[in-house]
Amino acid sequence: MPLEIVTIPCLKDNYAFLAHDRDTGQTAVIDVPEAAPIAAALAQRGWRLSHVLLTHHHPDHVQGLAELLADHPATVIGAAADAHRLPPLDVAVAEGDRIVIGRDEGQVIDVSGHTVGHIAFHFPASSVVFTADSLMAMGCGRLFEGTPAQMHASLAKLSALPGETLVCSGHEYTAANAKFALTIEPGNAALISRIEKIETARAQGRPTVPSLLSTERATNPFLRSDSPEIQANLGLSGADPIAVFTEIRRRKDSF
Ligand code: ZN
Ligand code: FE
Repeated sequence: MPLEIVTIPCLKDNYAFLAHDRDTGQTAVIDVPEAAPIAAALAQRGWRLSHVLLTHHHPDHVQGLAELLADHPATVIGAAADAHRLPPLDVAVAEGDRIVIGRDEGQVIDVSGHTVGHIAFHFPASSVVFTADSLMAMGCGRLFEGTPAQMHASLAKLSALPGETLVCSGHEYTAANAKFALTIEPGNAALISRIEKIETARAQGRPTVPSLLSTERATNPFLRSDSPEIQANLGLSGADPIAVFTEIRRRKDSF
């Protein structure tokens, strides 16, 4: 039985997620931007929190943890590489380590770039990956600590997962990301039709996260360094993919 996923809007534009296993009742939360909406989502469903998975150390992903744990004791899992700047961890993990939620088993993927030490959690049997500020809907996180080459390698790992994988990312930045994507790949029909769906969703107040990995591969410029149209628009036809990625990231930073 695949994990049941719940998207929880937090703060201004963050997302936390619940991953619930019906057979065992175990429930994980991925990132804790604030406690109240997560506690409410658990209470509404009668679920008991068992695990907390932290993606990276930024306050907007961990600052609600102490308050949540006060009423919802759970096993806290995060990157060993970042243990010195994360809240206290019960389990410190690294790339390739396994995480068990109920009867599903996830794998830790190092996705450094936004920060060095950022991890993602992939649950193959449930076709879901929690990416926070690495791969985002039509975007990727800003490079606060890592190099473009590091982020490019991280995104390549995520992009290689099965196309039906649900990408649970950390922020509602999709509309702004879409505007940028259109400036460098205006001839991409999949991008144009996705933008229409996003505008409708946002007008109705619906989240545009999570998204399917196959959709990201077709429309997310940060996964499309090999697009001839993007390369031509950047004046980088035939250039090295990392050079193209670096230029896309540079332009987005000042967009
Ligand atoms: Zn962040
Ligand atoms: Fe963030």
